[in-house]
Amino acid sequence: MHLDFATIAAVSTPPGAGGIGVIRISGPDAAAVAGKVFRRPDGKPVDLQATQSHRVIFGQIRDPHTDTLIDEVLLIWMAAPHTYTCEDVVEISCHGGPVPVQETLRVVLGQGARQAEPGEFTLRAFVNGRLDLTQAEAVLNVVDARTAEGLQLAVDDLRGDMTRRIVPARDALVSLLAYLDAAADFPEDEIPSTDIDADLSTAVAALDAIIAGSRVGMLYREGAQVALVGRPNVGKSSLMNALLRSERAIVTPIAGTTRDVIAETCNIQGIPVTLLDTAGIAETADVVERLGIERSQRALSAASVAILVLDGSLPPEEDDLAVARLLADRLSSADSTSMPVVVAVNKLDLPERASQEAVIDRLPGATVVAISSQTGNGLEELETAIVARLSAGEGSGAQPALITARQRAALDRARDHLAEARSTRAAGLPIDLMATDVRAALYAVGEVTGENIDEAVLTEIFSRFCIGK
Ligand code: GDP
Repeated sequence: MHLDFATIAAVSTPPGAGGIGVIRISGPDAAAVAGKVFRRPDGKPVDLQATQSHRVIFGQIRDPHTDTLIDEVLLIWMAAPHTYTCEDVVEISCHGGPVPVQETLRVVLGQGARQAEPGEFTLRAFVNGRLDLTQAEAVLNVVDARTAEGLQLAVDDLRGDMTRRIVPARDALVSLLAYLDAAADFPEDEIPSTDIDADLSTAVAALDAIIAGSRVGMLYREGAQVALVGRPNVGKSSLMNALLRSERAIVTPIAGTTRDVIAETCNIQGIPVTLLDTAGIAETADVVERLGIERSQRALSAASVAILVLDGSLPPEEDDLAVARLLADRLSSADSTSMPVVVAVNKLDLPERASQEAVIDRLPGATVVAISSQTGNGLEELETAIVARLSAGEGSGAQPALITARQRAALDRARDHLAEARSTRAAGLPIDLMATDVRAALYAVGEVTGENIDEAVLTEIFSRFCIGK
């Protein structure tokens, strides 16, 4: 990765044909480079630097060596510092075919711009202080958002939400460290006193709130897998189709699902949920094969929540009990109050109703919802039950936090150092001994916002971006 100030350029739109293609140029020579390849419609050159910033100009791109016309384009000249990178930026919108886009980039690169690396525009926004690291990483979450709700969280972070959540911890630690350092050098009665416990608590509370929200935040970014299990004919496929119909289906390849399990992803209340259906199982005499026990096992081991589908119009059969046993066995180690099973008693539209207690009794703690895959009745309650199960547990009521594994690790480190500082204090050791841990906690907090970060970590973060971003 380069950390230089060369003028860089890249195609910022996806490859392939589209309405328009955008070439972005950033750096001190952006105007000069663009000026050499851009002409007004009458063929005259333009001095961009003398032109009003942030205005669109119509014109053409020409190869300066051959004077060949490459495309008619719109050009936006944006003078530093009010740009994405804080540098001079030119964006050229040409026709969105691969050839005009690549030809335009080629002549731009021929005039002294360097091909930008993945994420290099955003890296510059970070290096130039326009975005802190949580905001730069939020750009990735905006681009990769899978639902409108996930996008909302990412955009809030891009606007500084995550930083605002971290600042109270940082401020408390800075003031505490100033006190501890002073206390090491001067008698305590000569320096303004501070409430050490209050500062520690403020920092711990701020960090804990983010850590608590990270599991639910992860649901929005990574999604979750939900297994549909039940004997043949209870309506698993119909339910899957009903959920996919009522929600916008999301097309995403999911790693780790086996070929004999059907996996489809839909948006359930903002969470990209991949439904794993074990339907399509051959009817055979073999109970293991008939119930697709092995497939169900695989679906269950990949899933965070299981939906047991029952036919509410018929009394439970031995096979229903067998599937319930399978679930109960799998989950017997789990705390029964948090058993992640939702029982969907299907075919609510049929006049015949039969008690399903014999099955439900085997799954204490499971949520039971009556539904009809055919009419759509009860589907909303089912979705609410699924989301409640997915977000139950650690940090269920916390404000969701879209943090990366790197940020989480740094927050955990900060939290560990603060725990250490608290035990130093509880043990009645001299207060200056706490300073080491408080300093380390502060450093870890700075790694989240990017105040303390080394180049290798930056390379790792920005290499996850695409070229042109
Ligand atoms: P699977 O084997 O568990 O996947 O079950 P299917 O989804 O193939 O459904 C089995 C049969 O039950 C089909 O004939 C469906 O039309 C019917 N079915 C599924 N859901 C409902 C429902 O809510 N109401 C009614 N009346 N029939 C349903």
